[in-house]
Amino acid sequence: MSFESLGLRAELLSAIASRGYTEPTPIQTEAIPVIFEGCDLLAGAQTGTGKTAAFALPIVQRLAEHPPRQKRRAPRALVLVPTRELAAQVSEQMNNFARRLALRSTMIYGGVTIQAQIERLHRGVDIVVATPGRLLDHAERGTVNLSLIEFLVLDEADRMLDLGFIDAIKAVAEYLPAKRQTLLFSATYSQSIKQLADQLLDHPRRIEVARKNIAADAVTQAVYEVERSRKREMISFLIRQGGWNQVLVFARTRYGADKLTEELLLDGIKAAAIHSNKSQSIRTRTLAEFKRGEVRVLVATDVAARGLDIEHLPHVVNYDLPQVPEDYVHRIGRTGRAGEEGIALSLVCPEERPLLVAIEKLLKNTIPRRTLAEFPHVAAKRSVRVKEIKQADKLSKTRKAKDRQAQTPASKNTTPRRGKPVAERPAPKTGRRGSRSVR
Ligand code: AMP
Repeated sequence: MSFESLGLRAELLSAIASRGYTEPTPIQTEAIPVIFEGCDLLAGAQTGTGKTAAFALPIVQRLAEHPPRQKRRAPRALVLVPTRELAAQVSEQMNNFARRLALRSTMIYGGVTIQAQIERLHRGVDIVVATPGRLLDHAERGTVNLSLIEFLVLDEADRMLDLGFIDAIKAVAEYLPAKRQTLLFSATYSQSIKQLADQLLDHPRRIEVARKNIAADAVTQAVYEVERSRKREMISFLIRQGGWNQVLVFARTRYGADKLTEELLLDGIKAAAIHSNKSQSIRTRTLAEFKRGEVRVLVATDVAARGLDIEHLPHVVNYDLPQVPEDYVHRIGRTGRAGEEGIALSLVCPEERPLLVAIEKLLKNTIPRRTLAEFPHVAAKRSVRVKEIKQADKLSKTRKAKDRQAQTPASKNTTPRRGKPVAERPAPKTGRRGSRSVR
């Protein structure tokens, strides 16, 4: 199967070629003809399968083939996504295809001022990629006209429900015309997804490209059993010993992500945290630094990591196992993308064994256990050069100062999990390092 045989226009074929795609992925082969036919679609597709292009290409083509009758542009396609990061990723692909056909696409999400978005909407757009809460805000203020929407896409619908967007989605749907084409993409089919599909879709065609909840085959998984108190030591060891240069590490909490980042910096490993307490500008900057290889380890929480598209990401580490087994599948989907090989390792302490059992039950598979022969049996005291520590401290202080400056008022108000927010604590002083031995 080729992209040409799917009936895509020359402008889109050249956009596809310039992205380096040589043949359609299974979701693209199956979904594109259904969307061209005009049917509603319920698609079971995990992240990393090429689902964004599967809906973006036919929507852009259909919009270009039927120009709007009204003079002032009101959006005709709406893509709802769970997070700002996914909005950015979908928007980037949409824009890339849309501008070849003289269509305009914009991104709407919360955590940033609304005014610039109002102005962009006022100038006229054809496609809106949005998180549900902020879009509803625009709809209620009357700053977006949703009455001419022809295509509604619910992307990563399961995650939108996990994040509590159900009411916002239903409220947004009230502003949409009944006659429209609706496409729902979800990695999992829970009862609540079925209910949502029943409400919003009309006799949808169903396609499923990956087996339900099964982790991507291209990912090599392994579990290292380790005491909680030695996880930091082990992750530093793995990164150094393996010479890993780009690692996405999952921590369960924002506090945990910040704490681990500080520890890795003290170990002389350049790391940065990305979570919902960070302003959008910081998240975007950190992600760009990670993609450019300037930050070796990105420590993320599940919410922040959702929708991150980092191509050729070789390593994912679960520093903490997720509370929800499905999140394990989402996490390891960050590696082994689009045919690449990937490695996903989990550091599991005795307290987390029930979580591991639940994950393995979901996968219907046992994740191989590995041991590190060279990993010292006795906890080693941290031994780093004073110069390295000072450099790491300086780097972390500068970053925190910049972070504080760039924090939005919304994120400043967020209550820390305990004590003062990590970002406000003074960086550890070299002389007060307690049991850490310093050469
Ligand atoms: P998605 O599932 O939409 O997040 O896409 C995952 C990754 O696959 C993205 O980096 C896309 O750029 C890439 N991709 C999408 N379609 C193709 C294709 N036909 N061939 C190769 N890579 C693709």
